[in-house]
Amino acid sequence: MTSYADFYRQSIDQPDAFWADQAGLIEWHKPFDRVCNYDNPPFVNWYEGGQTNLCHNAVDRHLLDRAGQPALIAVSSETGTEKIYTFADLHGEVQRMAASLKALGVEKGDRVLIYMPMIAEAAFAMLACARIGAVHCVVFGGFASGSLASRIEDAAPKVIVSSDGGSRGGKALPYKPLLDEAIRLSSHKPGAVLLADRGLTPMDLVAGRDHLWSELRTTHVDAQVPCEWLDSTAISYTIYTSGTTGKPKGVQRDTAGYAVALAASMKHIFDGRAGETFFSTSDIGWVVGHSYIVYGPLIAGMATIMYEGLPTQGMDKKPNGGIWWELVEKYKVTVMFSAPTAVRVLKKQDPALLTKYDLSSLRALFLAGEPLDEPTARWISEGLRVPIIDNYWQTESGWPILTIANGVEPKPSKFGSPGIPMYGYNVKLLHEATGEELTAPGEKGVVVIEGPTPPGFMQTIWQDDARFVNTYWKSIPGKLVYSTFDWGIRDADGYFFILGRTDDVINVAGHRLGTREIEESISGHGQVAEVAVVGVADGLKGQVAMAFVVLKDSSVMGDSAACGKLEAEIMKRVDGDLGAVARPARVRFVTALPKTRSGKLLRRVIQAVCEGRDAGDLTSMDDPGALQQIRDRMETV
Ligand code: ATP
Ligand code: MG
Repeated sequence: MTSYADFYRQSIDQPDAFWADQAGLIEWHKPFDRVCNYDNPPFVNWYEGGQTNLCHNAVDRHLLDRAGQPALIAVSSETGTEKIYTFADLHGEVQRMAASLKALGVEKGDRVLIYMPMIAEAAFAMLACARIGAVHCVVFGGFASGSLASRIEDAAPKVIVSSDGGSRGGKALPYKPLLDEAIRLSSHKPGAVLLADRGLTPMDLVAGRDHLWSELRTTHVDAQVPCEWLDSTAISYTIYTSGTTGKPKGVQRDTAGYAVALAASMKHIFDGRAGETFFSTSDIGWVVGHSYIVYGPLIAGMATIMYEGLPTQGMDKKPNGGIWWELVEKYKVTVMFSAPTAVRVLKKQDPALLTKYDLSSLRALFLAGEPLDEPTARWISEGLRVPIIDNYWQTESGWPILTIANGVEPKPSKFGSPGIPMYGYNVKLLHEATGEELTAPGEKGVVVIEGPTPPGFMQTIWQDDARFVNTYWKSIPGKLVYSTFDWGIRDADGYFFILGRTDDVINVAGHRLGTREIEESISGHGQVAEVAVVGVADGLKGQVAMAFVVLKDSSVMGDSAACGKLEAEIMKRVDGDLGAVARPARVRFVTALPKTRSGKLLRRVIQAVCEGRDAGDLTSMDDPGALQQIRDRMETV
């Protein structure tokens, strides 16, 4: 077995040889004649001259060996339905969808915007686009008209694929009126709209524009649509970032590099094997959904579970905090992927649910999207008794930047660290102001990636090369490096620790403190379920830290003496861990924190509210009630 250190070294020192090897993990129509073209940094072209197709690698390729095996398992605890599509079934559905899109005028290079709940048709639409060389742009189904309109405007889709609606907690959420309104708001109008009617909510069709999938599917039931062979660098899709720090960016990805990167990550990182089942609890609206609900597992020949519903609702629509574990048992899931925010929800459930089901098939649970605090990691790791593997990446990267590659060489995880740099990523820590490289253990710097960025990484920002270069590659003086805009440190063993975003730093009386470090200290208190710390302008100290805490038992909030005692305990903890300068000026108790639709803390919004400023772009926010609580608590300071 190669050591990971050697594997990694080769990827950095001999990228051509390394990635030429990895390219063997996918099927090509035409071999490439150049592995990496980095003649025009920071732009990089992978596998020039080659031709392949993502849909071929995800679906058609498996027809030979596993046509009758499960490919897509669509489960909805919202509608109480479960349907298994084999690779052969999926091949049929994707061709029907591809034929329907073509009939609606979609050609190679055209954009198709997908605004859908977590139903099988959404995956059919993505794969159908890949099949015919159309560029998909999936917009998270939870977004309202304003956010959707700006994305329609930016992507200028020829066709939009949508549905009558979604459902959350048993309540139908109409999508169609939001879509109609978004199209009205946008100056770009799609030529056609294709709708999957789930019978959840009534919808009005616009004559001449709107078409029903049920009808087109029947028309094209026997359609045979061969895969379009695409140049390696052909755009496969665009996707927007979460919008945690501001206006979302339209990340653009290629075809071949992405296919190779996913195939390689399934082997080396996720260790998922053909014929097994992969379960990612994310949403197709996010990058994790693209890479590890749809493309990654299918490329690896695995079945993938697409789950619509809350983690706390059973198939009988009754509360069931064990639904995910029920699915793991039923479909013998071997690899699972979720987010810390979801685990924190489960943490409030009965821990006995973790031992009620047979989870012996499960080899690992991967978590990503935000910092994984140690108490949450310990709780889930002790409950599941499988390795909990943190992985750090971004919409921009498409696959993990920092984690553990147990498929290459098993290595222990360290609590609080997502791991070490993945092959292909030349990760460095740089001094924010001088750009000097920091190599000593424990030195804190900006996490950057030196080009060429590996296959699968974003090509550019959709139709805005200048914004791509200026936003990501020009932030460190004098150096052309990709900035992640996250702070990190590295320990003596080379493990990285992410300390928060570069704009989440507060300055208390001249001391620069990461809000993340203060949160980490507070979350170690036994009664704390979740916490957000922000810096608030202060006439005397410049900034002071404010902490908003969600307690495991929210009934304590009614007891002001108990709250006062808790506040004092929390402050004492921070004093002990980080020193008195880091101590929050106030600890306020709330029942929910403002988050993005993908479950990430919106510190920038909390901070604006605390300072009485306009909170700016709120389109990515999930729960307005949570923000109102912050407002109310600030008034009572
Ligand atoms: P925007 O870029 O629009 O502000 P965003 O950064 O939240 O939104 P994503 O690409 O979804 O959009 O998230 C990537 C970011 O999430 C990383 O830069 C990092 O800040 C955080 N993150 C992801 N995974 C981890 C992890 N395992 N540990 C710590 N932070 C993580
Ligand atoms: Mg980001």
